[in-house]
Amino acid sequence: MATEPLLFDPNDAWRIGRNGLFIDREQDEAFVRAEWAVIGPRVRQIGLYGSLAFLSATFTDLSVLGATAVYWSLLAARFVILGWGLWLARMGSARPTPPIRRVGAALLGFELSIMVLFLLVVLAYGGSADYHSITALALIFAGYAYVPVLRREAMWVGGIFTALFAVIVWSSLRFDVKYVNIALVLFGFANLAGWQIAVSLSRSMRMAWLDRRRLEHEARAAQVARQQAEESEENLARLFDATPMPLVLVRVADAKVLRFNAAAKHLLDPQDKKRGEAFSTDFYEDPAQRARLLARLRAEGAVRQEEVRLKTVSGQVIDVLFSMRLLRFAGEDCVVSGMVEISAQKRLEHQLRALAFTDPLTGLQNRRGFFAMAEQAMRAAPAGAPGPCVMLIDLDHFKLINDRHGHPVGDEVLVEFAQVVLSLLREGDVLARMGGEEFCILLTHTCAAQALEVAERIREFVAAHPFQTTDGVVRLSLSLGLAGCDGSARSIDAVLSMADQAMYRAKQGGRNRTEMHA
Ligand code: GH3
Ligand code: MG
Ligand code: MG
Repeated sequence: MATEPLLFDPNDAWRIGRNGLFIDREQDEAFVRAEWAVIGPRVRQIGLYGSLAFLSATFTDLSVLGATAVYWSLLAARFVILGWGLWLARMGSARPTPPIRRVGAALLGFELSIMVLFLLVVLAYGGSADYHSITALALIFAGYAYVPVLRREAMWVGGIFTALFAVIVWSSLRFDVKYVNIALVLFGFANLAGWQIAVSLSRSMRMAWLDRRRLEHEARAAQVARQQAEESEENLARLFDATPMPLVLVRVADAKVLRFNAAAKHLLDPQDKKRGEAFSTDFYEDPAQRARLLARLRAEGAVRQEEVRLKTVSGQVIDVLFSMRLLRFAGEDCVVSGMVEISAQKRLEHQLRALAFTDPLTGLQNRRGFFAMAEQAMRAAPAGAPGPCVMLIDLDHFKLINDRHGHPVGDEVLVEFAQVVLSLLREGDVLARMGGEEFCILLTHTCAAQALEVAERIREFVAAHPFQTTDGVVRLSLSLGLAGCDGSARSIDAVLSMADQAMYRAKQGGRNRTEMHA
């Protein structure tokens, strides 16, 4: 939308001088041009009525002078003034504006000519000063109070006229000394008061104009700002709707969803349960999530690619990458949130992670899984608390079982062995297959003495247990090595190595036995 340029720059200095005009000549001309609708008609009236009134005085000329050469010369001069006045009148009606500098000069010239001609008439009439003084005073007042000041020189016309009139009175008119004092006071007063009137008229017109311009400017600036805000909101809305990424605009104050695009609708309300209406902001699976994200948004300015779990309108939980940004919309603090659904990726990630940490044969944790869980357990263990303890189990002479019954039966035994040991453990203990026929148990919150008891229980149980395989019953014995995390060893590697040493001792000691690291 096109906007009109600003006509008035409030930063410009618009200073009014002591004569009531703008100090800068160009600014003053700009004012006259702008206010021509008021000033123009005044110029027209002055040109028209001034010259007509001046012409009408020709009858007085005739009665005083008779049809003499002087009379005819004055009449000619009065017609010249009439022509000038009519020309001024035409300029006063010119629209939009005539050249202001020329009008100002013409008006000043017109004023001066009338006054000079008046003085010539006074000279021609002669006689007493009293009679002429009255007309002179009226002329002075009219000049100051009615003629708009378009040029600063016009302010001196009254003074010059008064001085010339005084010279004429002194040199060629009769005057009564007792009236001179009063005349001086009256002419002085006419000039001083006239000056004040002219200044305050000029000044108040210009100040009123400035105020008006300033208000117009402010109104226009406000309109421009409003328009720009509307435009940027419109653009935002369009961009919002056209984006294929799900976007939601939420008001910070009350968490109201102000806008959402089609992609967001498709993601959060695919069955259109809300029938096109806005969702509520409680689409976080964890209700405290919103406050947490908002706090981060305020602290850091943006939230980028945060993994968040959302709840759709129908209650389904989805994983998204969530990005947030603060912005102003419709004069309010809002958050725009963009999201990309990553549920499928997250599912795959979980599966891969599970695979990476699981032994495919027994379904137990593998070596990697064991380390992850053990580290977690060690971190969680309060300082000074017993455990966790680590128990390494190696199946005795397993190679023989394979050799005797075949590898697949060996597998069957490994699977059943895992089940048997699991059934003997407490919840929270972790059984992992570290590789081959070597297993490891992480016993949480267990002191060494308790761990030894558990080890013996397992060893005795397995030794007595008939493993049912497709190739008949298989018997098994175990060598166990135990080590506890208390004391110096706080790393899982160190504990494992200690347990390994203990287990080696068990093997050395003849197998089917448990050894504890000192
Ligand atoms: P020791 O008492 O000294 O431990 O004797 P061992 O035979 O158990 O020890 P060794 O380390 O010599 O042999 C381990 C055997 O375990 C060799 C290997 O064939 C067998 N084994 C390792 N992984 C598997 C598996 O996944 N399935 C089967 N069936 N056997 C396995
Ligand atoms: Mg082994
Ligand atoms: Mg073995």
